[in-house]
Order: sequence, then C-alpha cells, then structure tokens
Amino acid sequence: MRVLVGGGTGFVGRNLARLLKSNGHEVTVISRKPGPGRITWQEIPSKGLPPCDAVINLAGENIMNPLQRWTDKFKKEVTNSRVETNRVLARAIASAEKPPEAWLVVTGISFYAPSETAEYDEDSTGGDFNFFSRLVRACEAAARIPGDSAAAEVTREAVVRSGFVLGREGGAFPSMLLPFRLGLGGPIGSGCQYLPWIHVADLAGIIAHVLESKNVTGILNGVAPSFDTNKDFARALGAALNRPALLPLPAFMVNAVFGSERGEMLLEGVKVLPRRTLESGYRYAFPELGPALRDILSY
Ligand code: NDP
Repeated sequence: MRVLVGGGTGFVGRNLARLLKSNGHEVTVISRKPGPGRITWQEIPSKGLPPCDAVINLAGENIMNPLQRWTDKFKKEVTNSRVETNRVLARAIASAEKPPEAWLVVTGISFYAPSETAEYDEDSTGGDFNFFSRLVRACEAAARIPGDSAAAEVTREAVVRSGFVLGREGGAFPSMLLPFRLGLGGPIGSGCQYLPWIHVADLAGIIAHVLESKNVTGILNGVAPSFDTNKDFARALGAALNRPALLPLPAFMVNAVFGSERGEMLLEGVKVLPRRTLESGYRYAFPELGPALRDILSY
C-alpha cells in the first residue's frame, strides 16, 4: 500500500514508518518542513492528495512538554495542530478523484472521564467533561469524511484512542527514567489512579493491523489489555531497573510544573479496555507491563 502519514516525523510516526516499510508498504510523510520522502501541509489544499491507498494522521503539538507553559495561546496550538490537520485531510480525501481505502487518526483515552472504578471500552460515552476530552471529540469530528462525498462510501474510517505510549525515543517515558535510575522515582500523587499504557511497537502494530485488515472500522482503544495503576507502573519500572521506586511525586509539584489542567492527566486515571481492538484480531506483542518495560530498557 502507498501510505501517507501526517506527523510521521514524530515518535509514533517513525516507529510506524519502520513497521510499514518492513511489511512492504511505501510511506510518504506530511510535515511542516519539506524534505526527502515528504510533502508539506500547504501542498494538500492546493494540489490535493498524492496517489495513496491509506492516510493516517499523527500530527499534534506535544501536550506534555514541561518547558511549555499551559497558556491560552499554547492550548490553541495544541487544538489547531490536531483539529485543522484532520480537517485538511478529511476534505482532501472527500475531494480525491480516487479516494484511499483507509483513513485513520490517533487521538487519546482522555476522551473517557477519570474514575477509579468505572471500566470503559470503545462504546463508552465521554468527550464532554474537560479540555482534553473535548479536544478528542473535536479531533474525531474534524476527521469525519463528509457524508455526501463518494469517499464516505469507499474509505474505511478508523480512530485509535491511545494511552500513554512507552518507548525510548519519544513521548514522556525517557524523561521519567533519570529519577528512577537514581532511585528517586515513585508513584505520582496517590498512585491509585489507573495508567492505561501501550508499547510503541503495539501502537504501530494496531495501526498497521487496521490498514491491512480490510474490514476494521470505527473506534479502537490503543491500550494494553492489562489494568495497571500508577503505583504498579512505578513498582514495575523500579524492578526493571533494579532500583527502589518508593518516593511519591506530590500532586502540588505536578501542578506547579504542568498547571492544574494538564496535571489532572497525570493525577487522575481511567480504566480502559481495548475490547474492539482484541475482537478485531490484533495480537499484542507486549500485553504486560514488566516485559514491555524490560524490552524498552534493553535497546
Ligand atoms: P510527537 O510529538 O512525537 O510528533 C507528532 C508530530 O506532529 C511531529 O513530529 C510534528 O511533525 C507534528 N507537529 C508538532 N507540532 C505541530 C504543530 N503545531 N502543527 C502541525 N504539526 C505539528 O507525537 P507522538 O508521535 O508522540 O504522538 C502522535 C499522536 O498520538 C499525537 O497526535 C498525540 O497527541 C497522540 N498521542 C500520543 C501519546 C503519547 O504518549 N506519545 C498518547 C496519546 C495520544 P513536523 O515537525 O514534521 O511537522
């Protein structure tokens, strides 16, 4: 397949491109910067989509950048970088002479309301209680192909709602390693909040599985099929590094660095089941936390 990947230069995109290429697909990236094997976002509205069989969007300003203050301007950038890129691609797909076979966007499990007891799957409601849940709803709405276009008939639409992505070359995990290596790591806040996570190889694997399956559509939760709390995570990471992991990071420090709105994402959790992902036939390479962390720390 010829696959077009918006935001393909990022952490998930690089892992996905490697997997797609090793499965025999061709990858073209859409980026803000031109370069070999890339097209830019500006080219899409004027020239339309290049010939392709599948389109994926992973673009988005990094939400958890601790150096970036949580200002209205930054929140707008966080929103526009996702909503507008999804909209540009959905419109281009709708007006393509030969629409692609599949169109997939990655959003997040912040769609579901934090709870220590409720269990969510892809049919659960959400998307209406805070900035991040509304952001997911807006991203998914912007990605919808207009119903009156030919593409709405022929293009399979899918959304992967991802949990915290674990890998060595991006996301929040690398910045957590130093305190844990020094024996200064531990749970965040109470540690009782659920932390839906996924190994980056499995997130890339789920996306490739959707493209290659020919009949998978709709929402899929991109989380491992095991329920772990933040405390379980700290314990497993400490064990994988052979270090104690008992020092809790207090809530007030999290809020001081990230602001209370972003801090909520770390201090509150959700229990998310990938029911449709499993039913679709996807087989996880890393369904359990310990082996996932040991794999990531081994390269
Ligand atoms: P990255 O931050 O690594 O990269 C995403 C890409 O988005 C960048 O390479 C960049 O490409 C593009 N981008 C960044 N800022 C902007 C902007 N302001 N406007 C347009 N494009 C921009 O993200 P990940 O690979 O970690 O994540 C991929 C997607 O998955 C994101 O949408 C993210 O929200 C979502 N997700 C990620 C999670 C995680 O733990 N990593 C968890 C849940 C969801 P370029 O510079 O080439 O334009």
